[in-house]
Amino acid sequence: MSDLASRIAQSRAAILERIAAAAKAGGRPAGSVTLTAVSKQQPDERVEAMLGAGQRVFGENRVQEAEARWAHRRASVPDLELRLIGPLQTNKAEAACALFDVIETLDRDKLAAALVRAMDKTGRRPRLYIQVNTGRETQKSGVDPDEAAAFAARCRDSHGLEIEGLMCIPPETEPASLHFALLRKLARDCGVERLSMGMSADFALAARMGASAVRVGSALFGDRPSA
Ligand SMILES: *Cc1c(COP(=O)(O)O)cnc(C)c1O
Repeated sequence: MSDLASRIAQSRAAILERIAAAAKAGGRPAGSVTLTAVSKQQPDERVEAMLGAGQRVFGENRVQEAEARWAHRRASVPDLELRLIGPLQTNKAEAACALFDVIETLDRDKLAAALVRAMDKTGRRPRLYIQVNTGRETQKSGVDPDEAAAFAARCRDSHGLEIEGLMCIPPETEPASLHFALLRKLARDCGVERLSMGMSADFALAARMGASAVRVGSALFGDRPSA
């Protein structure tokens, strides 16, 4: 095995172990937390090594970058699961539906309507998460926490979309635990069970607090090379 391959395999094993221990500490069943490997901006050889280590769930934040990286790999990795974790413009809804298995950043009616059209056109139905701006940060996308339940209801009743869960990116300056707890409460209000929360700095906390998927980039692959 090359140095890179063994480093990546070890890193993945260590993260999976920390996730399992945290889930257990939270009284959660083994295997209840999915590791989403956030491959955005990572060198391709690291991604190849991650596939070689057995990782199959990957997160990307840009549609075009994800297409370039993943479209040609679909045939050789049939059990791949791709998750869009970055903001989605309505004019990219069709491309996103064609490529992604999960879209985690649904946050407005216009996008819900665009996704309905894109699903009809592509014949694909990615699983959907509503992004909640739990910190009410102006620069971040996501629905306001107070609007989440009403938006989830509109997604179902007006747009005819099934919602699988909620996603959040807590503010960097506040304890993540407050935001993870809020997201869990909102999920109950919205009638969904899955939570995408936790990144490199706080994925273990998220796993303990009820995440069904954690999104880990730099702690797993190494730092993203600066552009
Ligand atoms: C980049 C990104 C991550 C991963 O960040 P790391 O700190 O490298 O783990 C997780 N979620 C979202 C939405 C991201 O954009």
